[in-house]
Amino acid sequence: MLLSQYPIDTVKETPSEAEIVSHRLMLRAGLIRRLAAGIYSWLPFGVRSLRKVETIIREEMDRAGALELLMPAIQPAELWQESGRWGEYGPELLRLKDRHEREFVVGPTHEEVITDIARRELRSYRQLPVNFYQIQLKFRDEVRPRFGVMRAREFIMKDAYSFHVDAASLAAGYAAMREAYTRMFERMRLDFRVVQADTGAIGGTASEEFQVLAASGEDAIAVCDADGYAANVELAAALPPATPRAVPREPLERIATPGARTIAEVSAAVGVPPERCLKTLIVAGAPSAPPVALVLRGDHELNAVKAQKLPGVASPLRLAGAAEIQAATGSPPGFIGPRGLGGLTVYADHAALALADFVCGANERDVHLRGVNWGRDLPEPSAADLRNVLDGDPSPQGGGPLRIVRGIEVGHIFQLGRRYSEALHAAVLDESGSPVTMLMGCYGIGVTRIVAAAIEQNHDERGIIWPDPIAPFHVVLVPLNLQKSAAVRAVADALYAELQAAGIEVLYDDRDARPGVKFADAELLGIGHRLVISERGLAADTLEYRHRRASASELFPRAQALQLLRERLQR
Ligand code: ATP
Ligand code: MG
Repeated sequence: MLLSQYPIDTVKETPSEAEIVSHRLMLRAGLIRRLAAGIYSWLPFGVRSLRKVETIIREEMDRAGALELLMPAIQPAELWQESGRWGEYGPELLRLKDRHEREFVVGPTHEEVITDIARRELRSYRQLPVNFYQIQLKFRDEVRPRFGVMRAREFIMKDAYSFHVDAASLAAGYAAMREAYTRMFERMRLDFRVVQADTGAIGGTASEEFQVLAASGEDAIAVCDADGYAANVELAAALPPATPRAVPREPLERIATPGARTIAEVSAAVGVPPERCLKTLIVAGAPSAPPVALVLRGDHELNAVKAQKLPGVASPLRLAGAAEIQAATGSPPGFIGPRGLGGLTVYADHAALALADFVCGANERDVHLRGVNWGRDLPEPSAADLRNVLDGDPSPQGGGPLRIVRGIEVGHIFQLGRRYSEALHAAVLDESGSPVTMLMGCYGIGVTRIVAAAIEQNHDERGIIWPDPIAPFHVVLVPLNLQKSAAVRAVADALYAELQAAGIEVLYDDRDARPGVKFADAELLGIGHRLVISERGLAADTLEYRHRRASASELFPRAQALQLLRERLQR
């Protein structure tokens, strides 16, 4: 491509709307433009990278034997009513009506549509297993669209759905997708981990996420370098402390704590560190059940995903409001404790349960208790894992300490089971001629998110540093003084033709611009390999090569340009 013919300029200033580096660089380099909140256009340079990501995904899906199809973005409400998700999905689902007042949704995902296809097309176990995939636009009316295409409302997903006659076949199909995903992200040269994930409301058996490691990632991941454990913190198990609870030493005491509501305030007022103060959270109960009390150490953080799986607790988890707390405990928020909670179910986190002589609320305004002991002063509660694991906690596999790192979820594979095939009656005949409801797997990849995640992981203060396989161009040609020097012009034009003929994608900066401008743009755009053609170099019959990550240039004979680039590009 000739840069002189390209109409979109790069931007020097840091756009104020962008909070993370990939978003800033995508705007500055002119890869994307915002149309509305969470809705973006992809400009030509951005599309080139996006298409490369798609090609790698498509190649690996095809290699794994999956079949590409393309489903509509607009889906009739009836299918969603049949699956039950019309009622369940909530405000992330964009609903609309046509001119006949018929209701539709803009698909946030395609389980319903694919299951409808499967029930119409598949009759016999002989047609299974099968895996259908598409690369297609999704719409989710996210509460907080942010970070550009990272968490958008409209985005491109690769979604795949597999159908099986039995669990062994589903497990094999899942394993094949796991391998295909691993190959894709390796080919894109991303630093990623496969982590155990929550299976969510749908249930299902196995689920793993592919997480690209980056400090800006929205997900926290617990990893153990010693035993290989890796799980989303939503799911990572916190083991009960290894040492038994100490014996009570202190008497139970009431302490006046006027206005002390937070753990920090209580800790200061009572003079006991936060890790020996308990916090008690009142959460909504399961439908038509009373609220439930969750008790944690003051320095620990509630894990909503774990808590909402407990019997009697509403899912999704909802913290009770002040009025509900008052009604359930007789006390205003801020002074709640597990002692004297009447009929409420009390779940205590393992670490809270291991404390002796602790501090907690007295269920009375401006009063806390100290020297409290389970068993002695209040009944032993139900033990539960309620907290997020922390850096240094032991790995559930026993190999050593956990480390918490941050990740960007770029893929999610999931053994769904019969959630949709049962609701939509998608069955085939088995070997004996009796109908069996098919088992399903589903496998998503955030295609547009990958481009942002790759930049999050590959950049410096001057701009993007694309991994070669997903760079918009392989090489950038930077001729200096092109408009004045016939020699530079001749060599640059010839090189441009020669490299292109060899299948190398070249961005030719033939603009009438100062060298500083050309270098800055080349670095911002992040093309990995740069060739500089100058009169001075040509006098010695040399060109100058520099990798985007290198700090110095190399001179090499002009005649070896193609060979050198082939080596560096490994092609
Ligand atoms: P998240 O936890 O990030 O909201 P999800 O669990 O809702 O993701 P899935 O339904 O599994 O996501 O979708 C498959 C993939 O689509 C995700 O792994 C992610 O890469 C991508 N994705 C999901 N939501 C968005 C979004 N709002 N913008 C861009 N990509 C997204
Ligand atoms: Mg989501």
